[in-house]
Amino acid sequence: MRNARGARGSLFFGADRCFKRRESGSRFGMLLAVRNFVRIRMLFPLALLTLVLLGAVMVSSSRTPASAQQPSTGSPTPVAAGASQAATPGAAVSVSSAQLQQAGLNIVVLDPAHGGTDPGARGSGGIRESDIVLDLAAQVRRALEAQGFQVVQTRQGNENPSFDDRSATANAQRGAVFVTLHISSTGLPGTVRVYVNSDLPTVTDSDGLIPWDRAQAPFLGLSRKFGDLIQGMLVQRFKGSPAVAQTAGVRQLRTTAAPAIAVEISSVAVQDRAEIDRMAPGVADAIARGVAAFKPSYVIPAGPGARP
Ligand SMILES: [Zn+2]
Repeated sequence: MRNARGARGSLFFGADRCFKRRESGSRFGMLLAVRNFVRIRMLFPLALLTLVLLGAVMVSSSRTPASAQQPSTGSPTPVAAGASQAATPGAAVSVSSAQLQQAGLNIVVLDPAHGGTDPGARGSGGIRESDIVLDLAAQVRRALEAQGFQVVQTRQGNENPSFDDRSATANAQRGAVFVTLHISSTGLPGTVRVYVNSDLPTVTDSDGLIPWDRAQAPFLGLSRKFGDLIQGMLVQRFKGSPAVAQTAGVRQLRTTAAPAIAVEISSVAVQDRAEIDRMAPGVADAIARGVAAFKPSYVIPAGPGARP
């Protein structure tokens, strides 16, 4: 994060290029927000429909194994009975619970911040935040995959997706957490800070749906728990780091409908990039262990407006 206003300054909206909103105030921005809002509106009904259909398949296959294995008999009766039972309220609830357990945390969306024409924070020695976080993401990815998690990155190379595009990548997943990676321009070199979004009023429309720019609101409690776990892992290795996650108005996190944190390493002010690179394995390990520790806490909300 590039910072001209003190340790927390870079994390607030519009404070600097770290969290600038490129579409702000434009008609395109409004269209994008509407498009993404529609996306979020469609996501939940589709997810619910998928759960019910999967439930019907599970119930029919578990209760009528013989008929399922003998499709050539031509009798549809047992399958129809199974499907009918799945539609009853009791069956739907029990199947949904099983599905939610299967659909628990298994995806980590990694966001190497900045990129393209936005280098992020730059040190006097020519260090660029956008380059370092891309290399860091590769190490975090390997550590997470070794723990059995699937990793989705918001960028693979030197491009710069918008804040909304990055959030859309996260919001398209189910059973995901989101981690955006930054290097600060200030702070004690060798320390690492985790940020979660500050309180957001939960706003819903007349249908009980959450607007795109408040997507993080229902997840704040989980985000804090997630952030504290990872900060706790980081402080064990990087002395001088905070013991618990900090809060700030982080633009990238606000539109993310998942437990979401920013991880910020200090800093690009070091003379030699190797000083930061040496921290990468420890940061990657702490994030991977933190995600694994958080996994049992992650219960996916049943729908928009439902607090996880
Ligand atoms: Zn940054």
